[in-house]
Amino acid sequence: MTDRRKIVIATGNAGKLREYRELLAETGLELVAFDSEVEEVGETYAENARLKAEAALAASGLPSIGDDSGVEVDALNGFPGITSARLGPTQKERTALLLERLRGHPRPWGARFTCTVGLAARGRSTQFFEGECRGELVPEWRGEAGFGYDPIFLVPGTGKTFGEMAPEEKRLYSHRANAVRALLASGALERLSD
Ligand code: IMP
Repeated sequence: MTDRRKIVIATGNAGKLREYRELLAETGLELVAFDSEVEEVGETYAENARLKAEAALAASGLPSIGDDSGVEVDALNGFPGITSARLGPTQKERTALLLERLRGHPRPWGARFTCTVGLAARGRSTQFFEGECRGELVPEWRGEAGFGYDPIFLVPGTGKTFGEMAPEEKRLYSHRANAVRALLASGALERLSD
């Protein structure tokens, strides 16, 4: 891919945008942030990823990435899942509400993060790429790095939550990094310039 071609990242979340900048650095693409502010009315992660990516494509005319992600807790049958962003008004409250729901359930609280990335481009069907990261929720906030539920998500074998990891370490394990690896491996970004 030639340098400085542009791709839009459809998000208003600074944490996600920072991760995409790092995950896509090797492509030489210039990332443009666009918050489509679409309502996440889809019933699946892929539907919401499509809504965000296609809204950004319609507004910009440029190839666009939209994603939807969430945390799914085994003991709560996958809750909050697709509603992860809407559990409460602030992330502190969302985290507290989730931990409140888990009170009384025996530990370990197995969970996974999941992410679906949608790539929309003119004249092409929107394509989807998935990634996950399995782990465990912990009852106390640990670390200040990352965003969202990172400080209560412990990654097996590391002894650390995502909140305690530098970005390069989170990238080794994260659901978003795994979805972006699938996108990169597919060759879909190179084909945009065909
Ligand atoms: P959305 O994909 O923007 O709808 O966000 C889904 C929800 O899951 C938000 O509350 C995020 O904070 C949370 N979430 C998604 N990815 C991550 C992550 O990498 N770390 C922590 N929380 C995340």
